[in-house]
Amino acid sequence: MIVKDPAALGPVEVAIIGSGPGGSVVAATLAKAGKNVLLIEEGANLPQDSCQPFSFEEMKQKYRAGGIAAAVGRPNVAYAEASCVGGGSEVNSGLYHRAPGDVVDEWAHEFRVEDFSEASLEPHFVACEAILQPASYPNTLPVASQLLRKGAEARGMASNDVPRLVRFSDEVDEQGVTRSTRFSMTESFIPEFLAADGKLLSDTRVQRLRKQGHNWQISARWRNHKVKIDAENIFICAGAIHSPALLQRSGIRLNAGQTLSLQPMVKLTAEFAEPVNYPGMGIAGEQIRDLNSDCSLGCAISSRAHLAINLLGTDAGPAHAVRRQSHLISYYVMARGCTDGSVRALPGFDDPLVSYRLSQRELGNLGRGLKALAGVLIAAGASCVYTGLQKQPVVENPGQAEQMPDSLEPGADSVMTIHLMASCPMGEARNRTAVDSWGKVHGQSGLYLADVSTLCSSPGVNPQGTIMALARRNSEHFLRA
Ligand SMILES: Cc1cc2nc3c(=O)[nH]c(=O)nc-3n(C[C@H](O)[C@H](O)[C@H](O)COP(=O)(O)OP(=O)(O)OC[C@H]3O[C@@H](n4cnc5c(N)ncnc54)[C@H](O)[C@@H]3O)c2cc1C
Repeated sequence: MIVKDPAALGPVEVAIIGSGPGGSVVAATLAKAGKNVLLIEEGANLPQDSCQPFSFEEMKQKYRAGGIAAAVGRPNVAYAEASCVGGGSEVNSGLYHRAPGDVVDEWAHEFRVEDFSEASLEPHFVACEAILQPASYPNTLPVASQLLRKGAEARGMASNDVPRLVRFSDEVDEQGVTRSTRFSMTESFIPEFLAADGKLLSDTRVQRLRKQGHNWQISARWRNHKVKIDAENIFICAGAIHSPALLQRSGIRLNAGQTLSLQPMVKLTAEFAEPVNYPGMGIAGEQIRDLNSDCSLGCAISSRAHLAINLLGTDAGPAHAVRRQSHLISYYVMARGCTDGSVRALPGFDDPLVSYRLSQRELGNLGRGLKALAGVLIAAGASCVYTGLQKQPVVENPGQAEQMPDSLEPGADSVMTIHLMASCPMGEARNRTAVDSWGKVHGQSGLYLADVSTLCSSPGVNPQGTIMALARRNSEHFLRA
């Protein structure tokens, strides 16, 4: 049921705050088990087809602050978050990975996460995948992917088409690539939640939580009206920035927001003599991951708008995207992050102060990744690569790629991220975790987290698969308790 007037709501058994991959999986799992569940979301409830995917309109409709925010540091790191029913799954490319086995072991050991191994997570991945059915391109790859693969093969590197959360259609585009649409939370877990009598309240921002007797009282703002909602249990699933900020606003501070991690990215743009880009080119999910385990190379969105942004600060400039769009494709380097960031709620402000300090290791991985990526694209036939670097702004041959610096300058102004995490890590190591091994907030009853903030560190791969498996694991544990 879509809630039209929250004032008419009675107390609920479980309130979930935030409807991204974490919140949606908890909501569907608990509602299907017969719980009386309310899913509260700050953003609007919009279907996938409310706008063109990856457009400026989508950024206006479904991103927080139009997708413009920054973590303060040297360099500052620009970041983007969604704010709508379905959270990040509504705007992302759907790339799907499970957490790598060595990362799972690292979390279990260093953070003392109970009953946590690849084997114990397996049923949760399998159950989510049965609904989402991550899939790779059935035949022809988008040109951006073909070029990355060609360059990788020429350089003796392995690359593969990462499965995505999409549904493929029967149609192909002008290049013979099968068309697809996102299979986001509003297409999957949220319809399941609603079919199981779940209640969805959108356009409602939760301000703070207060324990009153056995229940929690939620103070929220719904379309400029103040509302109060009572719940026996709460799952906070508001994402890496807003989960710790809500805890802090509610007076709960133990290890909340002190270890923010992110996966920093830098982009470069390759130009080819022949046309390679066309409007509607499918999302290219190709990734090279064998550089080292802390770094991956992949294809960035290359619409005209995105190309123009990616060419800002390069020798070519944004106007080049208009002149030569059909010859240009952007690619990214993504590194595994450290946990040197923080989130601090500021009295009187809606948004918290976010800071992050890139480590030498990340700068090194980004620099070496850019150098390898430029070499791959030259090997794929690029006539030149706009690197965005001051030292080697344009690369036209393998020798110039080799001369690129091995580390990014600390003052580089082009670092960004779409993967934020680990601000409220899980585990029994009480000195460094905010929640226990199953997401229960330390020292609180009836208060849980089940989102990207509970990851112990950056997994080095796209995180949404891991978030959903953890959300299911925490929900099932809650049902057993
Ligand atoms: C452009 C982009 C591309 C990406 N591509 C990929 C990809 O291909 N693969 C991948 O694995 N990951 C990708 N990601 C990352 C992925 O989307 C996130 O890691 C994931 O969505 C996090 O899930 P979550 O449930 O923890 O939080 P979110 O998805 O961030 O959801 C949190 C929700 O909580 C709501 N909320 C916050 N505060 C409050 C409050 N106080 N009251 C009520 N509601 C609140 C927000 O509005 C939001 O909708 C991408 C992200 C972006 C932005």
